Amino acid sequence: MSALDVSVKSPTRTPSVKEYVQQVLGQIRAKNPAEPEFHQATQEVFDSLVPVLERHPEYRSARLLERISEPERVIMFRVPWMDDRGEVQVNRGFRIEMSSAIGPYKGGLRFHASVNLGILKFLAFEQVFKNSLTTLPMGGGKGGSDFDPKGRSDSEVMRFCQSFMTELWRHIGPDTDVPAGDIGVGGREIGFLFGQYKRLANEFTGVLTGKGINWGGSLIRPEATGYGCVYFADEMLKTQNQSLAGKTCLVSGSGNVSQYTVEKLLDLGAKPVTLSDSDGMIHDPDGINREKLAWVMELKNVRRGRIAEYADKWKGSTYAGTDLKSGTNPIWNIKADCAFPSATQNEINQKDAANMVKNSVMLVAEGANMPSTIDAIQVYLDAGILYGPAKAANAGGVATSGLEMSQNSMRLAWSRDEVDHRLHQIMVAIHQTCYETAEKYGTPGNLLNGANIGGFVKVANAMLDQGLV
Ligand code: NAP
Repeated sequence: MSALDVSVKSPTRTPSVKEYVQQVLGQIRAKNPAEPEFHQATQEVFDSLVPVLERHPEYRSARLLERISEPERVIMFRVPWMDDRGEVQVNRGFRIEMSSAIGPYKGGLRFHASVNLGILKFLAFEQVFKNSLTTLPMGGGKGGSDFDPKGRSDSEVMRFCQSFMTELWRHIGPDTDVPAGDIGVGGREIGFLFGQYKRLANEFTGVLTGKGINWGGSLIRPEATGYGCVYFADEMLKTQNQSLAGKTCLVSGSGNVSQYTVEKLLDLGAKPVTLSDSDGMIHDPDGINREKLAWVMELKNVRRGRIAEYADKWKGSTYAGTDLKSGTNPIWNIKADCAFPSATQNEINQKDAANMVKNSVMLVAEGANMPSTIDAIQVYLDAGILYGPAKAANAGGVATSGLEMSQNSMRLAWSRDEVDHRLHQIMVAIHQTCYETAEKYGTPGNLLNGANIGGFVKVANAMLDQGLV
């Protein structure tokens, strides 16, 4: 009997959709070892897609899950630069070009000591679905470096950014790949990166977003992620005939997203009571008002100091240092109505989520990317609290980057009110898409499923239309 006969005589059963999804996730883990964040992000999305794949066998036969989880291109490069003491430093640079199915690659750059390939792949993967949800024509990408700007002088940051862009510039362009900021990359870094791009390419184009307002930036871009997250939370509350007015809110982080989350919460009459950084957190039971927020902005954006100083400055507030051994984060164990995690990935674990539910938190809106572990999300879903997943709730930043690209292409600058109005409309529309999609696929109120499915279907159909590429 030949080997061929054996295969003919042992027909294998076609795996169910659930089994197929588990097989693909197994392959992803095997092919991408030591990338736990990427495994987590793909699992979170693919688990939601079972009902879509059941209704659309063509997605499965076109192997869309295998294709969408493999980056179109990964660029990894050396970034040598000289510090202020004249010593040579070497960092690693990355750009993950994940999907261009619905537009040029688009996504931020992160400069943080923790950056590695797996973290950027998770962020690029998330970005594909997030960008699709915005309704704007943007593919997904992400990049960055393990360079940590903390404690570095402006000159060192400039030299690093120039060296980073000296390699990156040949891979990006206004119709190819349009990076923006993320952790550790704010207005200062975007300025240095743009300056070097312009010098190398000899053209002034919208190749980066988050630019300064006098040289191609959009009004409201710095505010957009935080404002958008609060607009999204407001839509979530409306489904329960509630509003943010009078609600006590936990906010983590103290960077770009956190600052403008606090500002918009104040606009809508809520009371933000916490902030944090990687060293610790502050709790101000009287509320972080506009005067205190202005002080935090100066502390973080100008003096580049630590949040611990808040408790010395403002009476009645307390500071608690980070204790990584404790297994929980004290910021999530404070009595409140709403939580806006806005620092980093996996800052809320299962115990933290249980603490929130115990402390009567009724809404979680994610400003940061993947701030909740899969177990934490399960706690929210089991408790039936309102849960706004990152790829929907924090999409306002990239949406406004999309508006910056439109203004650059038209050589126009819209007013603050016009951009804010468009941002608000986009967040309302994203919420509606998530809400209606969750219902359509049999999981009413589950915005996680709604966001994952809503983001996926548009990209999936574009991939089918464009053939096997
Ligand atoms: P940022 O301005 O650099 O601020 C980040 C904040 O998070 C800082 O307070 C930082 O504290 C804290 N943080 C960073 N790593 C931490 C860690 N391992 N543990 C505890 N705290 C940590 O960055 P951002 O732009 O606000 O980004 C915050 C989150 O929002 C990220 O998940 C990012 O991917 C996401 N996001 C940002 C945008 C955007 O438009 N900027 C859009 C969508 C999503 P230290 O200063 O001590 O590091």
